[in-house]
This record gives sequence, C-alpha cells and structure tokens, in this order.
Amino acid sequence: MKKTLALALILMCVFVIASCDNSQNDTPNGSSSGDTNPVTDAHVHEYGEWSIIKNSTCSVKGEEERICSCGAKETQYIDSLAHTEVIDSAVMPTYASEGKTEGKHCSVCNEVLVRQDSIPKLKEIVINDVTFEKKDGVLSIGDTITINVDVDTRYDVFIIKIQLKSAQKPENEASAWVNIEKGDPKKDIYTATLTVSERMFPGDWYLSWVYVEDQYSAFEYYRPEQNTVVFTVSE
Ligand SMILES: [Zn+2]
Ligand SMILES: [Zn+2]
Repeated sequence: MKKTLALALILMCVFVIASCDNSQNDTPNGSSSGDTNPVTDAHVHEYGEWSIIKNSTCSVKGEEERICSCGAKETQYIDSLAHTEVIDSAVMPTYASEGKTEGKHCSVCNEVLVRQDSIPKLKEIVINDVTFEKKDGVLSIGDTITINVDVDTRYDVFIIKIQLKSAQKPENEASAWVNIEKGDPKKDIYTATLTVSERMFPGDWYLSWVYVEDQYSAFEYYRPEQNTVVFTVSE
C-alpha cells in the first residue's frame, strides 16, 4: 500500500512538472494556432514577435522568424519589393541602323521588365503595290497593258523591271521596263507598258516579280504572295 502511494506521488510530481511547463499555454495572448509538438504532445508553442532575418529585395524574397521559448522556430517568406521601373526609350530606325521599341527595366536589379524589340533598318526602296490597267476580257496580240508600280525610294530610281510568267508554260516569260529618263522628278507611281506579242504563250499570265534599283545601286524585289492571274492572252 505504501509502495502504491509512493508511486502515485512520483506520478503526480511528473504530472506537476509537465503541467508546469504546460502552464505557459494558459496565457491569453497565445498566438500559436494550436499546432502541438508531436513529441511532447502537451506543449503548444507560443511564439514571440516576427523578426526579420533576411530583408527582401525586388529580386529575392526576404525571410522572418519567430521563436517559442522551447526553442522551436517558425520561418516565413516576406514578399519581395516592387521593381524600380525605368523606361528604355524607343529608338527610331535609320537607313544605316536598326531601331528599338520602348522597353522597361528595373534600375535596382537590372531585370528586363519589357523587352526592347529591334525594328529593322529603313529600306532604301519600298515597293508598295503593282496594278494593271487593260481592256476587259481576253487580250490579243498588239493589245497593251499599263503596269503601275507604287514605289517609295530614298534616292532617284534608276531601273524598274517587271517580269510576268505564263501560268500554262512557266518558262515563257515577258518583261516590261519603266522608261526612266535621267533628270525625271522622283515619282510615287512609275508606269510601264507591255504590248502582247506573238511570243507570249496563250492563256493566263501572272506577275512574277518587280525589280527596282536606285541611283546608288540599292535594289529591292517585289514578289506577290500568290500567282494571281493578271491577264489572259487569246489562243
Ligand atoms: Zn514551444
Ligand atoms: Zn528589380
């Protein structure tokens, strides 16, 4: 009986010691969310204030921790700071150099926030459009076709050649040149005339390409995306 009492006393003591440690949890400002330590089930952590252990920057998240009196630590990330945006101005292209679109980067970490895309150099020659004027219907030998080439050039035009192909016999080609006189004022639209000849295969004809060269030998080709029939020659 005495032994049992002694055992009970020892157990009580252990309980008191354990509950002594546990007593911290009774304080009303316990901020712990009740996560119990799986080892000492009775203990509920009571953490102090968060304190920063690593400052956040715009490129790296910071960290903070809080500590329980038992030594347990809890850490969490702190949101990274906003980037400091700087505008990278657009650069207009020139005939000699590429341009750039407007961009943005962070002046602190240098991260590119909006990429600058390159803009191609200005073209010395831009062929905008090629149009055909002719009589309606099927053309006969001797009929003429007026070909208008809408072109923007930096310098004076030197050569404009228009090449046409037979749809039925592609090796059969016909050419027309714009007659350019030296001293002509620069134009927006240059005109050539093609006369249907007996050497042209009967059937459909399409525009193959247009070549434009300026006085400084810069040149440009215009090739239609599709072989669209522009006129038909009679049998
Ligand atoms: Zn604790
Ligand atoms: Zn940054």
